[in-house]
Amino acid sequence: MLGLMQDWPLLLHKIIDHAALQYGGREVVTRSVEGPIHRTNYSQIRDRSLRVAQRLAKDGVKLGDRVATLAWNTWRHLEAWYGIAGVGAVYHTVNPRLFPEQIAWIVNHAQDRVMLLDLTFVQLMESVQDKTPSIERFVVLTDKAHMPQTKLRNAIAYEDWIAEVDGKFEWVEFDENTAAGLCYTSGTTGDPKGVLYSHRSNVLHALQACMKDTLSVSAQDSVLPIVPMFHANAWSLAFSVPLAGAKMVMPGARLDGASVYELLEAEKVTFSAAVPTVWLMLMQHMQTTGAKLTTLNRVAIGGSACPPSMIEYFEERGVTVYHAWGMTEMSPIGTVGAIKPQLAGLPLKDVLGVKSKQGHAIFAVEMKITDDEGNRLPWDGHKFGRLMVKGPAIARRYFKRENEEILDAEGYFDTGDVATIDPNGYMQITDRAKDVIKSGGEWISSIDLENLAVGHPDVAEAAVIGVVHPKWDERPLLIIVPKEGKSPDRDGILKFMDGKIAKWWMPDDVQFVTEIPHTATGKINKLKLRQDFSSYKLPTA
Ligand code: ADP
Repeated sequence: MLGLMQDWPLLLHKIIDHAALQYGGREVVTRSVEGPIHRTNYSQIRDRSLRVAQRLAKDGVKLGDRVATLAWNTWRHLEAWYGIAGVGAVYHTVNPRLFPEQIAWIVNHAQDRVMLLDLTFVQLMESVQDKTPSIERFVVLTDKAHMPQTKLRNAIAYEDWIAEVDGKFEWVEFDENTAAGLCYTSGTTGDPKGVLYSHRSNVLHALQACMKDTLSVSAQDSVLPIVPMFHANAWSLAFSVPLAGAKMVMPGARLDGASVYELLEAEKVTFSAAVPTVWLMLMQHMQTTGAKLTTLNRVAIGGSACPPSMIEYFEERGVTVYHAWGMTEMSPIGTVGAIKPQLAGLPLKDVLGVKSKQGHAIFAVEMKITDDEGNRLPWDGHKFGRLMVKGPAIARRYFKRENEEILDAEGYFDTGDVATIDPNGYMQITDRAKDVIKSGGEWISSIDLENLAVGHPDVAEAAVIGVVHPKWDERPLLIIVPKEGKSPDRDGILKFMDGKIAKWWMPDDVQFVTEIPHTATGKINKLKLRQDFSSYKLPTA
């Protein structure tokens, strides 16, 4: 017997409809790419996203077609997502930090028909447009006054483009499982893989994200999504923030410490989300200028491990840290580190220990850890194994690789991460399966060593890689970027680490560099580091 409730497909445009109706006057503030601060609201965003949908329909863009965006977080980018999805097409977020050849590869793979791009990226696309013939038209996200001279195919300013229709348009209705968004993983190994979100998965994920113990977004908030919309579906914030009716503050192209700080204060931001590198820039700005945070009360930190020293920095200033873990394939949030009731009242030191873990699974994310044979490992906080996940907002196939099986027999997706899960359900990433250091048949977590090293007062950034060793197979090498004006030495660093980890985990050597390479998504590029140090020999070898 079936239930007798209404069929109400979970479509993305229902989110912006709700925001416009219930919170129509709630502001969306942007540091525009052109420079000045721009203000609009959900009611106007909805009207203009309807125009985007109508304008795309006028050009024959139809259900399932891909429309690329190469853009910073701005109100126009937000309108574009809702407009593209609202006509049944697929927003494809292109990461501008990729090499031009990678961008061309991805656009060709996706067969994007239109590209909406920021002024900042016009030159970049001029250099690769000959290699991306599927793009019929480039729409520059600006107005007539700022439109540059460009050789881009059929180029038009966004404001002129949407002015060509009258906005009298109805959202297209279709099945909730229809594709809505496409985001490629960075592909540090092999070709990039396309993750294809559906309307249903995005709406469910937005609901999950708003929950009190996930990101706790509500209409009372002013939210600054620093995490770019081109990175892992913007951690759901393009959907969860309007859904909750919170004020939205978009940082545009400027993510440096001073610019972020200015927006946090000027727009009375209460909640923000970004990767550790961005927070590091803010912390450095605050340390050098003595600036204080007066409205921020929560931050989500994820994308790579959040060092305990960063958690401490924020918590000491009254800002609660939500350490989160996830990935593009998971829409992307998998776990968040809210404190469970049984852990309430712990002293700060122990709270920091819990918060340094990546958190517990949110609703509709099932997790297991397994050994190499696929057997489940216990949740004892010690045994580590491959982290596998299952849920309605987690990929089951990659785009155009539909014949490739990516789930195990129980329907779980292999995250490529290695983790422990403790009896309270808190998961801790010990490494990427490919970065873990295999020493004498045992595993050493590069992330643990990095977290410890950045706790040293003179260290700005740290990375650990495994280097070949004749006896132990691999031993850890610690690579450090000193803080400006500081010159820590090898012995001082090792002494600092000594006693805080098992003896056999201690790095065999420390090397100092001025910069550590990062991937297009802001993570330490271990592949590049391993290449840079390919001729390096350990003193212990
Ligand atoms: P990409 O793989 O394209 O860089 P993703 O955002 O999809 O982008 O990367 C997901 C991976 O990032 C995870 O599988 C995990 O290895 C790492 N990651 C994400 N959040 C955390 C975290 N809080 N701590 C440690 N690693 C993390």
